Amino acid sequence: MTLSARPLRARIHLDAILHNYRLAKACAPSARALAVVKANAYGHGAVRVAQALAPEADGFAVACVGEALELRESGICNPILLLEGVFSPDEITLADRAALAMVVHCPQQLDWVLAARPARPLQCWIKIDSGMHRVGFAPGDFQQAYARLSACPHLGLVVAMTHFARADEPEHPYTLVQLDAFGRALGSLEIPCSLANSAAILAWPQAHRDWIRPGIMLYGASPFADAGAGAAELLPAMTLESALISIRELGPGDPVGYAGRFVCDRPMRVGVAAVGYADGYPRHAKDGTPIAVNGRLSRVIGRVSMDMMTLDLTDIEHAHLGDRVELWGRTLAATDVARWSDTIAYQLFTGISRRVPLVYEHG
Ligand SMILES: *Cc1c(COP(=O)(O)O)cnc(C)c1O
Repeated sequence: MTLSARPLRARIHLDAILHNYRLAKACAPSARALAVVKANAYGHGAVRVAQALAPEADGFAVACVGEALELRESGICNPILLLEGVFSPDEITLADRAALAMVVHCPQQLDWVLAARPARPLQCWIKIDSGMHRVGFAPGDFQQAYARLSACPHLGLVVAMTHFARADEPEHPYTLVQLDAFGRALGSLEIPCSLANSAAILAWPQAHRDWIRPGIMLYGASPFADAGAGAAELLPAMTLESALISIRELGPGDPVGYAGRFVCDRPMRVGVAAVGYADGYPRHAKDGTPIAVNGRLSRVIGRVSMDMMTLDLTDIEHAHLGDRVELWGRTLAATDVARWSDTIAYQLFTGISRRVPLVYEHG
C-alpha cells in the first residue's frame, strides 16, 4: 500500500546497509557494534533495516523506548540500547520487560535505576561528558556514579561511554582532548567502553575500544565534509527518485517558479520533477544544486515548491516526460546535495516524509 501514486519513491538498498555494517566491523575488528537505527533508521525504515541486520548485528541503538518496542514487536531479539536512557521511572519497567539496555546520563536517571525493582539485572551504559557539554556525568563525578551503580544488586553489565563533538574533523585536536578526559575519568577502572560514532570509526582508531556505534555510515553517507578515510567504500543505501512531469522551452528573461528566483539568461529547456519540500527535499536548495536526469548531472533552478521542483534540461539531450530524476543516491551523494542547502545528509534522510513510499530492494 502506498499513500501516493506519484512517481516519487525512496529505494532502500538493504544489501548496501549490510555491506556498510560489515565495513564498520572491519574498521574495528576487535569491537562489537551497535547499529544505530534511531529516527526510523535515519529515515530508511527501522524495522526493515533491523531485520536485515539482525543475523549479524551485535545490537541496535535507538533514541527511546517507543523506538525499541517497535523493534521488539517485529521480532528483533538482539540487544537494544536506549541512547538517551529513560525519560521517567515507569519506562524502566518497560525496559526491563523488553530487555533494553539504557544509558544513564544524569543523577536523576541514576536514582531511578537504583530505586527500580526489575525482574532481571539492568544493563546500564554510564555516559561521561568528555567535552560535548550536552549530557553525561562530568568526568569528576563519574567514579561516584559508577560506585553507586556497581554496588546495586540489580545491576548487570555496566559500560562507560562518551560521545564526540568533532570526530568528523580528522585534523582537529578536540577529539584527543575528549579521549584524554574520558581516560582520566575512568582512571584504572577496567570496564567495557564505547566512544566511536561513524566519524570516529573511520578516522580515530584509538577510539574503537569495546563497542562502536555506527549510524550515518550504515546508510552509506560520509560523516565527513570532504571524502574521508574509508568513506569511499560506503555504498549509498537510499536512492530518492522521481520523474519528469513537464518540459518547456523558455526564453531569455523568463522567470521560473516562486518569486522568480531564477531567470533564464538564454533560450532554455526547463523540466519539472514531481518532488518538493513536503516530501523532504530541502526548500533551501540553491540554484545549481546537483540533480541527475537519466543518470546525467544537471542542476536545480528556481525555488523548490511543496510538490514540485524545476531543473535545467538545456544540456540534457533526449529528456522526455516520465524520465527518471535522481535527487540523491547512487549517482549523487546525499552529502553533496546537503551541502548546497547548508545542511547534512543526516537531515535529508530523516526529513523524508510519510508520503514518500520506501521500496525495499536487495542489491
Ligand atoms: C546517533 C548517535 C550515534 C551515531 O552517530 P553517527 O554520526 O550517525 O554515526 C552514536 N552515538 C550516539 C550516542 C548517538 O546519539
